[in-house]
Amino acid sequence: MSRTDLQDKFQFLSCMIGGTPLLEIQFRYKGGDRTIHVKAEHYNLTGSIKDRMALHILRKAYENKDIRPGSMIIEATSGNTGIAFAALGKALGHQVTIFMPDWMSSERINLIRSFGAEIRLISQEQGGFLGSICMSEELAQSLEHSFLPRQFSNQNNSEAHYLSTGPEIWHQLRNQGLIPDAFVAGVGTGGTIMGIGKYLREQNPAIKIHPMEPSNSPTMSTGYKVGKHRIQGISDEFIPDIVKLDELDSIMEVDDGDAIIMAQKLASQLGLGVGISSGANFLAALKVQNDLGPKSAVVTVFSDDNKKYLSTDLMREEPVKDGFLSTDIELLSFRSRRCIRCHSDNKLNGTSCGCPASNC
Ligand code: PMP
Repeated sequence: MSRTDLQDKFQFLSCMIGGTPLLEIQFRYKGGDRTIHVKAEHYNLTGSIKDRMALHILRKAYENKDIRPGSMIIEATSGNTGIAFAALGKALGHQVTIFMPDWMSSERINLIRSFGAEIRLISQEQGGFLGSICMSEELAQSLEHSFLPRQFSNQNNSEAHYLSTGPEIWHQLRNQGLIPDAFVAGVGTGGTIMGIGKYLREQNPAIKIHPMEPSNSPTMSTGYKVGKHRIQGISDEFIPDIVKLDELDSIMEVDDGDAIIMAQKLASQLGLGVGISSGANFLAALKVQNDLGPKSAVVTVFSDDNKKYLSTDLMREEPVKDGFLSTDIELLSFRSRRCIRCHSDNKLNGTSCGCPASNC
């Protein structure tokens, strides 16, 4: 592929990634009217927020000559990253190999396969998540031309959000005359919380930036893996290099069953088909709003859609436990504001989110 062809490919891909709508979700909580703002990241090319970092990491890797045509892309991932690299890698003409723990949903595994990538499933006995990372490094060393995105330590992961998701959120809120009081997001690699958090804090130094993890398996507050949880994509078995807890506010905890019920409600009551971590993010945003006041402007993300969870507990009845927040939430409606970047609907209704229109 010539340099111009490659540049064109990146240009075309960037028209399908980012520029997502910002939702204003209206609900009643314990009798009081509330609003929470959510960046709808399930709108990206492969249905998750990870498309943003995969695109940015690959673009940077080409710029720095860390990858070349023909290099195999090899990554250890719990799912969405694998799907993103499998699709983008294929679009750019690369072979892709993904190492993944074998307890992730069958939809994730099949989606990666559908993009023509090779998938190697690693059991708990073979080392689980950390084992996957070691094996991906070993495979790369055995090949002449390979590229390891290393999402857990690659600063271009959080930079993707610093350069795109953060500014989009800021401008979409500013367009409504709002300044965010807090941003909260579940932590997998930490790219989302660190990148968006850094940008928003530069604009509003008083903002609170809260990471979130499952109360059933709190990796960040303990420093290691404890317990089990069902919020795929967050709280793996260690604290990633990208995560700098001293730059963040307090860690919010959400029960995985509560997150499942919340995600079910968002789909069945509002028609927003999102994954379990999105339900958890919404509840974490509510907890932050309870601390800051019911009128505070709290923002979070819907990291992916519900299609990858059709074989999981998301589709089963979840028992309610004492202390769940989801049971006191009555979802009312939502408004959405699309980012202008690649979409024409803003032109139709005459509003623009104001984000720095970029590539296309
Ligand atoms: N939710 C889901 C569904 C994810 O796949 C991920 C990424 N692992 C996250 C949340 C967390 O995002 P990040 O890696 O940027 O912390």
